[in-house]
Amino acid sequence: MTIKPTPQRLTAPRSLIAAGLAPPERLAELDAVAGRYAIGITAALAALIEPGDPADPIARQFVPDGRELVRDPAERDDPIGDDAMSPIHGLVHRYPDRVLIKLVAACAVYCRFCFRRERVGPGAGALSADEFAAALDYVRARPAIWEVILTGGDPMILSPRRIAEVTRALASIPHVKTLRWHSRLPVAAPERVTRAMARALIADGKTTVVAVHANHPRELTEAARAACRRLSDAGAMLVSQSVLLRGVNDDPETLTALMRAFVEARVKPYYLHHCDLAPGTAHWRVPIAKGQELMRLLRGRLSGLAIPTYVLDIPGGRGKIPVGPQWLAREEDGAYAATDPSGVEHVYVDRLGADD
Ligand code: SF4
Repeated sequence: MTIKPTPQRLTAPRSLIAAGLAPPERLAELDAVAGRYAIGITAALAALIEPGDPADPIARQFVPDGRELVRDPAERDDPIGDDAMSPIHGLVHRYPDRVLIKLVAACAVYCRFCFRRERVGPGAGALSADEFAAALDYVRARPAIWEVILTGGDPMILSPRRIAEVTRALASIPHVKTLRWHSRLPVAAPERVTRAMARALIADGKTTVVAVHANHPRELTEAARAACRRLSDAGAMLVSQSVLLRGVNDDPETLTALMRAFVEARVKPYYLHHCDLAPGTAHWRVPIAKGQELMRLLRGRLSGLAIPTYVLDIPGGRGKIPVGPQWLAREEDGAYAATDPSGVEHVYVDRLGADD
């Protein structure tokens, strides 16, 4: 498969330092992390970073940190259990009606909290033609598969020609109704989301969904919003994916601005992920109780259109679950305690109609 390089992409500690994204005295620390995990920052995202500010929420997501080499005992190489649910190479079948196909293992940018960080990187390769054919055979043979999720890595780093081939191949399977592409490209390299790429994602009679990954409102630049508009104009449905990250978006103001920015870019807020137990990511994680409190505050201040679902992937491949907050609790007398967005409880009696 053809993977186009991104111009002016920074991939080495020395180039991060030369670009002013890290001070020279951190070279040894950055080199140590680079020996273990891939580095990549595109020109579009590097341009958003405030040089000299180590707390900059964009820099934190992409500039390596020595803490990545510290492993918490709870962390796992495969935190969401892809391998346990992978019947053939490159395909994950976790739920009856959908499969993931990992087309490529490379990305335009390498997020320091990546849940597949042990698998992704520039040398990690793409699905071969034979492996993709085997994945198609697997899907063709199972009429229950309604949705195919294209992921990786970032599958939209492929050329529009290759994306069109994948779209055509999947669209030829009658029971596959929905093609969902997971990508950071509209934010990481919006100039690469061309009209040709947008058209390549669309197939007559099928629904195309692009799940756009962004974690801070500054990522939704005018160029990123224009990329989303090109996808939407071509006929794709857009949904969001974000990770709740300490020091990046773990406050109500940033999350509010992020979710509004998504809607303004025609992207429906979909998932706010609790940060997975990938190796060396403990410094990113926010307690679940704090995540629930943030979601409660969002409910009180944001249009329902802009509210994502806060989700946790149960380790071992057991699936994704919404983790609250809880708004309704059953009381001993059979009534319910309903909590309003400001945290005040009210009694709700679930009275049945006269004919029930
Ligand atoms: S774009 Fe996705 S797959 Fe790639 S490094 Fe970031 S989180 Fe991981």
